[in-house]
Amino acid sequence: MSDSTCIFCRIVAGEIPAKLAYEDEGCVAFHDLNPQAPVHVLVIPRRHIASLADARAPEDEAALGRVMLVAARVAEEGGLSAEGFRTVINTGASAGQSVFHLHVHVLGGRPLSWPPG
Ligand code: AMP
Repeated sequence: MSDSTCIFCRIVAGEIPAKLAYEDEGCVAFHDLNPQAPVHVLVIPRRHIASLADARAPEDEAALGRVMLVAARVAEEGGLSAEGFRTVINTGASAGQSVFHLHVHVLGGRPLSWPPG
C-alpha cells in the first residue's frame, strides 16, 4: 500500500531524507522542510492514504487514531504541551493540501492566530 510517485511514501521507504521526530510500525513523524512555526512536524501513516476524504477502509480507523496520538506525543516531546499547539489536516487543493498523502501538521512555539487564512 505504497505509491512510488508519492514523496511521503518515498520518505517512509527511506528513499528521500527527512529529519525524523518519531517512527513506529504504523506511522512516521518528520520535521517540515518549510517550517511555519518554531516546531512544525508532519505525522503520516506509513500506508498511503491520499487524503482524509479518502480514508474509508476499515484499517484507516486505527491509522487515523494512531497519527493523532503520535501528534500529541510529538507535541509533548517538542515542549509544546504547556503552551499549546495546533494540529491541522489540509484536505484537498482548495484547503491547501499540496502533498496527497494524509498528514497531520503539528505546529507550535509561537502564538497562532485564528481563523487561519
Ligand atoms: P500540505 O500543504 O498540507 O499538503 O502540506 C505539505 C507539507 O509538506 C508542506 O508544509 C511542505 O513544506 C512539506 N513538505 C513537502 N516536501 C517535504 C519533504 N521532502 N520533507 C519535509 N516536508 C516536506
